[in-house]
Amino acid sequence: MLSHDGDDEHQQIRASVREFVEREVVPIASELDNAEEEIPLSLIAKMAELGYFGLIFPAEYGGMGLDTIAMAIVTEELSRGWLSVGSVMTRMLITGSLILANGTEAQKKKFLPKIASGELLTAAAFTEPDVGSDTAAMKLRAERGPDGNYRLNGEKTWCTFANRAHVLTVLARTNPDASLRHKGLSILLVEKTPGDRFSPPELSGSAIPTIGYKGMKSYSLGFDGYPCAAENLLGGVEGKGFYQLMATYEYARIQTAARAVGTAQASYEAALKYAKERIQFGKTIAEFQVIRHKLAHAATEIEAARRLTYYACARKDTGVRADLEAGMAKVFAAEMAERVTSEMLQVFGGYGYSREYPAQRFWRDARVFRIFEGTSEIQYEVIAGRLLGDKG
Ligand SMILES: Cc1cc2nc3c(=O)[nH]c(=O)nc-3n(C[C@H](O)[C@H](O)[C@H](O)COP(=O)(O)OP(=O)(O)OC[C@H]3O[C@@H](n4cnc5c(N)ncnc54)[C@H](O)[C@@H]3O)c2cc1C
Repeated sequence: MLSHDGDDEHQQIRASVREFVEREVVPIASELDNAEEEIPLSLIAKMAELGYFGLIFPAEYGGMGLDTIAMAIVTEELSRGWLSVGSVMTRMLITGSLILANGTEAQKKKFLPKIASGELLTAAAFTEPDVGSDTAAMKLRAERGPDGNYRLNGEKTWCTFANRAHVLTVLARTNPDASLRHKGLSILLVEKTPGDRFSPPELSGSAIPTIGYKGMKSYSLGFDGYPCAAENLLGGVEGKGFYQLMATYEYARIQTAARAVGTAQASYEAALKYAKERIQFGKTIAEFQVIRHKLAHAATEIEAARRLTYYACARKDTGVRADLEAGMAKVFAAEMAERVTSEMLQVFGGYGYSREYPAQRFWRDARVFRIFEGTSEIQYEVIAGRLLGDKG
């Protein structure tokens, strides 16, 4: 690690999370990943106890009131242990920051302290089978019934952690006029009972088999008249969901950049260790220039992504618009992580392809960064739009 890792408080936070990860996460990550098992609930409870789910929420709502760099450091260190562990908090960050920025006072009081304490776990249900990047085209309908409450009908997909969540943060069409596009969308905080069975037939779910990210399952969800209380309409006014979501993407993208940095860091550290131990042609492979340069290149790329991420954090903490910086950090870190984890796997030769070593886990996990929280292609559109002065 180079210098400039934040102030003393940030360094203490990094040291304490690293100690937690070495003790609680590293010993179980590969075994659970190989067995395709989810993160134990006991580990999630420990993370909640340490305050990881309320890092940036103000103390009055049960949070720790920390800055965005602290959030990135915690994320990076957790992801260094296992991407799935660094990704649990993403959900609470998305839902919590949506409520903090847009919720009514009653919603803040009802949800935020329980999200911060881990009493309420959340999941984000935005993507649909036919609609991913084109957020404004979401179709799932939320209609008010005679009692004033909503009934949801439609499908969502890729809802990660939906089984364990107590609250699904759902982007829904509250105005049936599809031509309104983004202006007809609202966010609903849909309460549910945690568990793998969901509540069929009103809410059904099935896990999607994936190549990585094994510690959390992503679900296809079917809503067939599932209820949501009217008081859980985020901000209390319909038609604001798209704008609320776009503003919150800054946090989510910064956090995703930090997840990519942590995953790449883990792969680099594993390769560095292996290169110093593996003997070929009578020397350690770390003595071959091509391997030395792979390691040097990886360390340089990781550091560049880390600095860009912290820069986006610093910008976010000044309170100004940070979508350009967050987008740059996310896309750069995502693409860096794919390159670095692939090259670090190469350092292991055949063992890199074996489940005996975690190099393949880092590589499988890293592939998702270019896809979720806005694909790389969409990120470049956001960046280009800002550079070219597009409206928005
Ligand atoms: C493991 C995993 C976990 C996920 N977790 C969640 C979650 O918890 N909650 C949630 O809501 N979603 C989640 N997602 C969904 C993810 O956010 C979407 O997959 C992503 O937004 C892309 O949408 P799509 O898959 O429908 O692809 P599409 O939007 O169909 O895109 C397909 C391809 O076309 C490109 N493309 C699309 N539009 C444009 C354009 N305008 N210009 C240029 N290229 C374009 C894309 O970049 C991509 O390469 C998850 C996905 C994965 C893989």
